[in-house]
Amino acid sequence: MELTELKGIGPKTEKLFQKLGIRTVEDLVYYFPHTYLSFPKTQVVGSLVDGEQQAVMGMLEKDATVVHLHGLLMTTAYVRDLSGKLRLCWFNAAFLKSTLRAGTVLVFLGKVTSFKGQKTMQQPRIFRPEEYEAKPGTLEPVYGQTKGLSNTAILKAVRQAMDVSVFRPDFVPESIRCNRTLMDMRTAVRAMHFPESVTQFEAARKRLAFNELFLFSLALAEKKAHHAAERSRFVIEAHPEVAALVEKLLFQLTEGQKAAVQDITADLRSGFVMNRLVQGDVGSGKTIVAFLAMLETALSGYQAALMAPTEILAEQHFAKMKAMIEEHALALRPVLVTGSMTAKERKTLYTRIATHDADLIIGTHALFQEKVVYDQLALVITDEQHRFGVNQRQELSEKGQRPHTLVMSATPIPRTLAMLVYADMQVSLIREKPADRLPIRNAVVDENYRKNAYKFIYEEIRKGRQAYIICPMVEPNDMLDLENVSDYVQKIRKIFPKEVKIGKLHGKMKPAEKEDIMARFLAHEIDLLVSTTVVEVGVDVPNATVMMVENAERFGLAQLHQLRGRVGRSEHQSFCIFVDTQNSEKSKQRLQILAHSNDGFDIAEQDLRLRGPGDIFGVRQSGALDFAIADIYEDGALLREASEDAAFVLKTDAELTLPEHGELKKALDRFLAKSCTL
Ligand code: ADP
Ligand code: MG
Repeated sequence: MELTELKGIGPKTEKLFQKLGIRTVEDLVYYFPHTYLSFPKTQVVGSLVDGEQQAVMGMLEKDATVVHLHGLLMTTAYVRDLSGKLRLCWFNAAFLKSTLRAGTVLVFLGKVTSFKGQKTMQQPRIFRPEEYEAKPGTLEPVYGQTKGLSNTAILKAVRQAMDVSVFRPDFVPESIRCNRTLMDMRTAVRAMHFPESVTQFEAARKRLAFNELFLFSLALAEKKAHHAAERSRFVIEAHPEVAALVEKLLFQLTEGQKAAVQDITADLRSGFVMNRLVQGDVGSGKTIVAFLAMLETALSGYQAALMAPTEILAEQHFAKMKAMIEEHALALRPVLVTGSMTAKERKTLYTRIATHDADLIIGTHALFQEKVVYDQLALVITDEQHRFGVNQRQELSEKGQRPHTLVMSATPIPRTLAMLVYADMQVSLIREKPADRLPIRNAVVDENYRKNAYKFIYEEIRKGRQAYIICPMVEPNDMLDLENVSDYVQKIRKIFPKEVKIGKLHGKMKPAEKEDIMARFLAHEIDLLVSTTVVEVGVDVPNATVMMVENAERFGLAQLHQLRGRVGRSEHQSFCIFVDTQNSEKSKQRLQILAHSNDGFDIAEQDLRLRGPGDIFGVRQSGALDFAIADIYEDGALLREASEDAAFVLKTDAELTLPEHGELKKALDRFLAKSCTL
């Protein structure tokens, strides 16, 4: 159903919705809130503490005043009760003056800061007492927005969409729904948008997460059956040239790297198809492990392909591989294949690949999307696998005659879960970092420290280093007071001297634009990159030594840890500044975990322990396995249930051909067609 069929949506508004990726009424139904706002009970002025969102009910002492301040209009009012006095202020909201009259009783909701004993609430939302009364305990949805489309407008559209849309029959068999006490889909979707309570929201989220995890488990089980100990025609022995190369590396391999190399070497010569995951934290040195496997393969007279999630990463890998081959005078022929090459260039490359004039093939998904024919593809490696879809990986591994596959991931998944998520693979774990690395210095600071942080970043830039600043949002949101890339760039252009070259990066940019910015950052044409979490995917810019994360309290710790891995990649001391804008006891405690640990697994586990039920995170959790709703950390138990259920279903109906599994089969096909990860 077309969006324009809804009331209040014309072609113009439709365009705005399209910007958010919403094209149909169905899309709108599944456009879930980015986060929810809760309404605390009102309290007296004296009990307000700094940092947290709080509500206060009180009578205004006098009429509000409006004054000019630094080119802004500032509206100020005061409430006083027996316990104390609170200042309230708003910028550019002179229209409030008529509401804020002496003697009026109102409820104010906002964040409190104290300065020299004076408590102030900045930009609080205003409610009539009778209006606020019913709010505590409820949740208000906040949607991701774009300029010109407010939260209210999106909310209105969603309400209509919910009323008119027809839901597909539920694909989860009824026995499972009963057994796991899963909410029905319509109720769940409605409750995701308009939860009546935190408990209801949790139940709804569980239902939707189960859907994903169930399909995921089914797909995984099929794949596992497919891959069970299959004989390989590619038997790859270890070569003395590779051993000599390892001896001459500028560094010694860590124990974890050595063990991974041994695992792979054993797999490659075993006569069975390798299906291995190398899991290691960012910076643990997975690339060299992959390269060694590629060299062994090529030296055995076969071809090896390495697929990276971005062009820059592919280019980086290619440059390193080429340098290594030249340095060691190996008679091997590496090639780079990316989507941005001209048709002519690609044609030449394809011929070289087909005629085996190339044996080390590095590239992006262009490696399989196009009609690339390999001569003897014996090894397929995917880097940062959680960025690729199941099908993509599958397609590439089907290019040859069942090549060996190696997947490299930096996602720190708890070991018990890894057994489920990577059920179809052998796992090599690299736990330690190279010894010569200086540990990153971490600081958890509040907003008052920003000025110093900018000074510090400027000093590093003057020393010739580069820096990242991470914001949680791309564009402003009328309900959330969170930093966004668009405004931030403008703000800091005024703060930093002109010579500092500032760039911006976010997920709404076109892939080519993103690549361009990253390439310029790598070439040091940009000093300071303001970005969302898209930089999480592993490009190596060793010269970047500072990362500052705004609204750090809004991110999952595992994700912050991944982000932090972008710095600390060279002999220079690196720094990470987490700006905790909430500055509550709880947020401080959480972020301190990062300051004290450098182990991704440990961090993810501690984070989970600290979070209570009902803690709803604003910003989506890490991109670990691209689930829309499910979270590999939070939903560990649910994943276990879903995989038991999947196994049960497949036991009686392996091909899902029974009529009662008709919807399930369709859902699974849709799931596999989407870029979802395995
Ligand atoms: P990741 O595991 O995140 O992919 P990389 O393979 O990109 O990490 O390695 C990060 C950096 O560490 C690279 O510059 C690489 O050359 C270097 N490196 C890898 N292994 C070692 C080691 N054992 N000792 C020192 N430096 C290493
Ligand atoms: Mg890497």
